[in-house]
Amino acid sequence: MSNRSAEGRDADAVSVVIQALGTMADGSIITDAQQRIVYVSPAFTLMTGYDIDEIRGRNCRFLQGPDSDEATTTAIRRAMGREDAYQGVILNYRKNGEAFWNALTIMPLRDRRGKVTHYASVQRDVTALIAQEKQTQHLLEETKRQRETDHLLLEAARLLGERSSVSAVAQTVADVTPGLCGADKAAVALWDAKDERLFIAAVSGWDGALGDRIRTFEATPEQSPELYEIMQSQAPAIVDGRGSDWAKDVMARYETRAIVIVPIASAGALRGLLLAAWSDSEPPDSIDSTLRDRMAGLAGLAAVAIDNTRLLEEVRWTESHDGLTGLPNRALLEERVAGALERSRTDGTDVAVLFYNIDRLKRVNDVLGHGSGDAVLCHVAATLRSAAREGDIVARSGGNDFVIVLPGIASPAEADEVAERVISLLEQPLVIAGRDVFVHLSHGVAMSVDRSAPMARVVPLREEAEQLITAANNSMHEARSRKMSDAEPFGGIDELRLDSELHGALQRGELTVWYQPQVDVRSDRIVAVEALVRWHHPILGAIPPSAFIPIAEENGLIHEMGRFVLNEACTLAALWQDRGHRLEVAVNVSALQLTSPEFFTALTSGLRDCALDPAALTIEITESQMVGDIATVAPRLAALRNLGVGISVDDFGTGYSSLSQLHTLPVTELKIDQTFIRNDSATSAALVAAVVGLSRGLSLRVVAEGVETPEQLQMLRDLNCDRAQGYLIARPMPRSDLDGRLGMLSAV
Ligand code: C2E
Ligand code: MG
Ligand code: MG
Repeated sequence: MSNRSAEGRDADAVSVVIQALGTMADGSIITDAQQRIVYVSPAFTLMTGYDIDEIRGRNCRFLQGPDSDEATTTAIRRAMGREDAYQGVILNYRKNGEAFWNALTIMPLRDRRGKVTHYASVQRDVTALIAQEKQTQHLLEETKRQRETDHLLLEAARLLGERSSVSAVAQTVADVTPGLCGADKAAVALWDAKDERLFIAAVSGWDGALGDRIRTFEATPEQSPELYEIMQSQAPAIVDGRGSDWAKDVMARYETRAIVIVPIASAGALRGLLLAAWSDSEPPDSIDSTLRDRMAGLAGLAAVAIDNTRLLEEVRWTESHDGLTGLPNRALLEERVAGALERSRTDGTDVAVLFYNIDRLKRVNDVLGHGSGDAVLCHVAATLRSAAREGDIVARSGGNDFVIVLPGIASPAEADEVAERVISLLEQPLVIAGRDVFVHLSHGVAMSVDRSAPMARVVPLREEAEQLITAANNSMHEARSRKMSDAEPFGGIDELRLDSELHGALQRGELTVWYQPQVDVRSDRIVAVEALVRWHHPILGAIPPSAFIPIAEENGLIHEMGRFVLNEACTLAALWQDRGHRLEVAVNVSALQLTSPEFFTALTSGLRDCALDPAALTIEITESQMVGDIATVAPRLAALRNLGVGISVDDFGTGYSSLSQLHTLPVTELKIDQTFIRNDSATSAALVAAVVGLSRGLSLRVVAEGVETPEQLQMLRDLNCDRAQGYLIARPMPRSDLDGRLGMLSAV
């Protein structure tokens, strides 16, 4: 009885537990000692969908499913094996197959002897709680990453704020990218809107040959579908082996596994692309929010920094460049020359400065308008640029002044080479408004150091630069002053047209030489002829030398024209010499011809070729040109005189030369200007008398030109002048007419 009542009390205890559990909101199960279900609470049925009749006698394991954690089920089994209590969370499945997180507590129920008779468990569906916890965890991590992103971007913004050029901005962006987004390498490509192409402006992490290869990477949107898409949508994209042929090729060529590309855009306008590349580490499969935030954030900063520095560069550029030609201006030129001089002081090389000035630019502006003047300036800028070597500096130093600086040169010959290239490049005319315009430049050279000079004073670089440019400018002015007078206007035809027509006139046979006789005043015999060039233009007719000689001096054609006249004249004199007669020829030469080295060679070979006695040739140079640049002209005249050639001062009386100057020159003849002859006044006669007197003292021959009347000739006779030339005796005539007039020639 006592036994029975003890068992009864144990059973009562179980039913008390059942009663208690049955009222709880949490579900509960009671199993026997063999873990067979004997009771489930209504809350359990609600939670799982199972009622007691379906599951009575079964083991609770049926609640587990494919994703239930192995370790947890083992832990439960072990606890029960030890008859211990267990508490934990396990993934269970409801009757409808839905998984749920079950927080369960299992405890053994013992009888008074301590033997386990049942197991009771309390179970709670904590799925929502766990999801919430996960969400919280995720949010926490997200916040942490966001904070890190902000920090990294802030640091990048600080660095970018210190950059002052677009290339420096690109480099900084490339440098911070790998650290920011966990990539191995990075690059920044900039968009060249003009040529519609992308080019690499900076790389980071790409070394050696691979680095060189990526730096030369260029792409147009048409070549690459991925790029086209990115640039169209302006959305980030991942390029890897799964993409187009172009993408596969890029992966292979640059040895990468994936590249994430983000557009750099400002107000919808593309500035470039930011590229992060994975080659060694595991590439991302897709662009997650962190990667997107970081790369897009950096691209945004890059766009602002690029726009700011571009603006800054533009301002700096305008301050230091000429807006029309795009060349450095005077200020930047001086800075660059100073830089070149600094290098030359250490490496022992020289710096040459070529100074250029455009001839007759004002004429172009006046005749063809300022737009044409601008076109000439741009043409000259482009010409000088293409004549210059790599590393040379081409600048516009003022209105129509240009400069080429040649740093690091070993000899002045290198400067000559560049100067000659400029001349040959300008041989072709520039076509403006359907007209051929020949552009002529005057130029001068200066070299940095005269190494023969004793220890030069150490001058500040900027000052030395200024001096060098000024010296080149002076040298240009000297050269220019040799291109003498202005051309006389001719029948309303502007100089530019004459210039253009004069090119090729000789080759087209439009130039000829006419001859005007000179007589010996005492015997009336023709003793000499003056060679005078003639230009007969098929449409414009006869153009006087006064209209085209100054143009030929400016455009350099004077040299070949001069050689032609000289050859014709010498050939004529040699012919008469061969016939046994002495006929002297006088040839007009401009100072510009005289100072060119080729002139002397051409003259000596000309005399030799036709075996002409040098004494039969007289060179006429106008008085003003002779004394204008006396230091250069004097030695050339001396060389000619040494050959035996006569030297005449043409248009004497108009050039304000002084006796002392003439005395130092090897002159053989004075040719009195026609204005003094034609003017019949007493002062003119006195002047002629004075010149004749002067000539006697210096043993010079006196020739009077422009003799038009018998009275004038008589006066010359009376004043004891040697020779006379003028319309009274004969007008200039072609060679064919000359023969008939030379009957009066004296035999040699
Ligand atoms: P110039 O050397 O003083 O030549 C004399 C000029 O006076 C010639 O003009 C001639 O035709 C002109 N003349 C001669 N007799 C008389 C006269 O009785 N009355 C007047 N009114 N004029 C007379 P042209 O041929 O027009 O030449 C003008 C100038 O052009 C020359 O002056 C000379 O300085 C230059 N010139 C001519 N041919 C050449 C040449 O081949 N080379 C160079 N460098 N200059 C030349
Ligand atoms: Mg003359
Ligand atoms: Mg004359």
